Amino acid sequence: MSETLLIHGGSVVTPTEVRRADVLVVDGVIAAVGEGLEAPDGTRRLDATGCWVGPGLVDLHTHLREPGGEEAETVESGARAAMCGGYTAVVAMPNTTPSTDCAAVVAQVITLGRATSIDVMPSGAITVGREGTHLAPMAEMAALGVTIFTDDGMGVQDAGLMRRAMEYGRGLGVTLAEHCEDESLAAGGCMNEGALSSSLGLVGRPGIAEEAMVARDLLLAERTGCSLHLLHLSTARSIELLTEARARGVVVTAEVAPHHLTLTEDLCATYDTVYKVHPPLRGADDAAALRLALSDGHLDAVATDHAPHPPQAKDRPFDDAAPGMVGLETALALTIEALGGEAADPRAVFRVLSRTPAAIARLRASDERIGGFSAQGGDLAPGEDANLCVVDVSARPVVDPHRLHSRSKNTPYAGRTLLAGVRHTVARGIAIVIDGEAQR
Ligand SMILES: [Zn+2]
Repeated sequence: MSETLLIHGGSVVTPTEVRRADVLVVDGVIAAVGEGLEAPDGTRRLDATGCWVGPGLVDLHTHLREPGGEEAETVESGARAAMCGGYTAVVAMPNTTPSTDCAAVVAQVITLGRATSIDVMPSGAITVGREGTHLAPMAEMAALGVTIFTDDGMGVQDAGLMRRAMEYGRGLGVTLAEHCEDESLAAGGCMNEGALSSSLGLVGRPGIAEEAMVARDLLLAERTGCSLHLLHLSTARSIELLTEARARGVVVTAEVAPHHLTLTEDLCATYDTVYKVHPPLRGADDAAALRLALSDGHLDAVATDHAPHPPQAKDRPFDDAAPGMVGLETALALTIEALGGEAADPRAVFRVLSRTPAAIARLRASDERIGGFSAQGGDLAPGEDANLCVVDVSARPVVDPHRLHSRSKNTPYAGRTLLAGVRHTVARGIAIVIDGEAQR
C-alpha cells in the first residue's frame, strides 16, 4: 500500500514561511523537507514546479448524503470530489436519512469513509432526527470520535434546548456547530430579503434571521462555556456580533462558504435555482465584508457547504427547489480569489482551508484523535502524517459541471475561469490525485 514519494520543485507553505523545498514521503509520513533531496530507487516523483505544497485541505462542512440520499452523492463519490479538490479530510454533515444522530449511523459513516482514500469524520446531530425536540445521545457518538455536533440544514430553533445541548457538550469537550437561521423569520423564504426579492416576487430570508440566532448562540456559549462554531456566516452584522463576542472571551469560531464570498443575490434575478442556497446569497456589501473578515482573520475558515442535489430537486420553480450547491472541487480556487487572487498569501490560503479547520475538528497532530483519523493541517515538518495538497497557481481551469467528480452537478460556477488547480493530492502518504487525475 505505502509508497515512497518525492514532491519536487515546489514552494513549501508552512505557517510562517514559503520556501523552495522538496518533500520526501516514506511509509505515510513526511520523512524530509529540503532543497535537492535525494530519493531511493523506486521513488515516485511528483513534479511541483511552480506550485504551492501545503497541508491537505480539511472541509468542516460536507453533505455526503449517504445513507439515504445516494442519488445525489455517496461517501465514495463525495470523497472522490473532495480529493480532486485538494481535500484529505472532510466532516460529513448529519442530515442524512436516517440522520446521523446515534452511534450506529456514526459507525456506518465511519466505515463507509474508511473505504475511501481520505479521512471522513461524521458530525453528529444535536437532536434526535434533527427534529429539534429531544437531545441526541451525544456521548455515545463522541466516544466514536465525533467532535462536532450540529443539526445543519436547520438551526436548533429552541433556545432552551440549545442551552442544554451546550451544557452537555461542554462536559463532553465537543463543539456545537450552528446553522444560524431563525425559522420564525426565515421560513418560506427562498432568497435574500430586500428590494430585489420584492421586485422578483419571491419571499425573502432576511439577514436578521441569521443574526438573531448568531446573537442568541453567542450569549448561550458565553453562559455555558461550550465551544461554539458558527456555520456559513453570510452577513456583515454577523461578523460584528462574532467580533464583539470574541473580544469578551467567548470561545467561538466561524466559517464562510465560497459562494457567499464570490456571488451575490442579483444572480437570483435569473430565477436559475442553481443560485438558491440557505443562508441565501446576499448583497455586494455583505460579500465584501466577508472577504475582509476572512483576510483579517475574524473569519476562521472557509468551508464548502457542498450540497449535492439530483436534477429533479433543482428543476423546479425557484421557491420550491432544494437549496444548496456543490463546492468541493471549486473551493480552493475561489478562496484564492477571495483572498486577493494572484496576490493571495499562500499561508493565509492554507490557514483558512486546512490548518484552522483541522484545529476546529480536532484533527491536528497535537489533538487526541479517536476513530482512526490521521493528523491533518500539519506544518510540513518531518514525522507528520503525509496529508498534502499541491496547488498549481498558474493553472486556469474552466468549470465544466459534467467534469465534476461529484455525483451531482449543481454548481453555480459553470463556465467560470478559476485562478488555480489541484495538481496532486497525497493522503496518508499515497498519491491519490496526480496531475489533476484521480488515481483510484
Ligand atoms: Zn447549513
